[in-house]
Amino acid sequence: MKKKIYRMLVLIAALAIFFTVVFVTLVYYELFRAQILDDLRTFVLLVKEEAQSGQVERLGEEIAGNGMRLTLTDRDGNVVFDSEADQSRMENHGARPEIAEAAATGEGRAVRRSATLSESTFYYAVRLEDGGVLRVAKDAGSIYSIFARALPFVGMVLAILMALCMLVAHVLTVKLISPIERLAENLDEYNDSGSYEELTPFVRMIQKQHQDIVKNAQMRQEFTANVSHELKTPLTAISGYAELIENGMAEQEDVVRFAHGIHNSAGRLLTLINDIIRLSELDGTEREWSMERLDLYDLASACVEMLALSAEKHHVTIALLGTRESYILGNKQMIEELLYNLCDNAIRYNNEGGSVTVQVCHRRRGTLLLVKDTGIGIPKEHQERIFERFYRVDKSRSKSTGGTGLGLAIVKHIVARHGASLELESEAGKGTTIQVSFPEYRFNS
Ligand code: ADP
Repeated sequence: MKKKIYRMLVLIAALAIFFTVVFVTLVYYELFRAQILDDLRTFVLLVKEEAQSGQVERLGEEIAGNGMRLTLTDRDGNVVFDSEADQSRMENHGARPEIAEAAATGEGRAVRRSATLSESTFYYAVRLEDGGVLRVAKDAGSIYSIFARALPFVGMVLAILMALCMLVAHVLTVKLISPIERLAENLDEYNDSGSYEELTPFVRMIQKQHQDIVKNAQMRQEFTANVSHELKTPLTAISGYAELIENGMAEQEDVVRFAHGIHNSAGRLLTLINDIIRLSELDGTEREWSMERLDLYDLASACVEMLALSAEKHHVTIALLGTRESYILGNKQMIEELLYNLCDNAIRYNNEGGSVTVQVCHRRRGTLLLVKDTGIGIPKEHQERIFERFYRVDKSRSKSTGGTGLGLAIVKHIVARHGASLELESEAGKGTTIQVSFPEYRFNS
């Protein structure tokens, strides 16, 4: 790219110089030509009187040294006098353009190429009172010779200008490219000063993408570390119990207890792995989720029914309120999971004797789902983070109630997949309300 810019600049400069030289030469030649013809005219008008009074020969001698030539014809175009040739041998000049023009209009002019390319002959003619024509001629450089004469000078200027252009092109390309090179060397510490502003939006975009990539990589790494850690605890327990049984160190009554421990830990592993698989499915873009018309009220009702037993165990009441036939466009499995995670949390983080209210209703702009509990609430400082993977306010409570720390991360993903929005309202000690607003669903039926 550097070479390309450099070559283009030099090419543009060379073309500009070439055309300027051609144009300027043409203009100057035109001025030069007009000037010579004008001089010849002044001269011929000055000597007209003398020529008429028969002094043309003397005049001819006088001007011979100045490189000029004088010719006199009679009214029929026959040459009466010529300062350079023998008039008796000269053909009739009546048809020469400048003489014909002078005979017709009083004055005539012409420029003709000489025998050599490098010279042109300039003619100016005036009609005399007796009808004859007096013509003065002068050889001068042709446009080619002027070009040729100007060539060394032009060449020199061209060389100097080209050298200058090459220098400027070099400086320019270096200047143009250096911010990009600097950027490539150190993307994060790049700042606007010293570069051109057109690059700024581009840099900002790349920086943002770069930061996102780094953040993503960090998150993945953290997630992997967390997953390993989470898996380790139940596996260690299983391995411990199994070892005790294997070594015959467990009494008959302990074996049942240990088997129960193994069962619990294995169950925990299964839930954890299920949640991880769910998350990675939701993260990926490969899978196409089929969307259909769903009655959110129906699904909420099924979920409340399913969790009734768990609520009873926690001494919590659970109730469903709202409007039947509240439709949304969604993936059934995902919405069931969202409902389950929200209601399950509302039961697990509740107080004995507390309540959970699930509400589904229509709004002008869509369908709302509210899951409200009178539980332990979430302190302000944790509210932003509870949707992160493995983030828990109270780890032991989460674990003891079978939590994985992934439920709300899954909810957040599902909400995003449905183009819905999520709001959390909670006060420590009083309770929590989570609201999901689904976009309006129009259907033809
Ligand atoms: P977990 O499996 O631990 O419940 P979640 O992702 O579902 O994980 O929730 C993350 C954390 O948010 C929980 O550990 C808990 O501290 C807090 N939390 C979630 N829902 C509620 C709620 N309804 N009331 C109080 N705290 C809650």
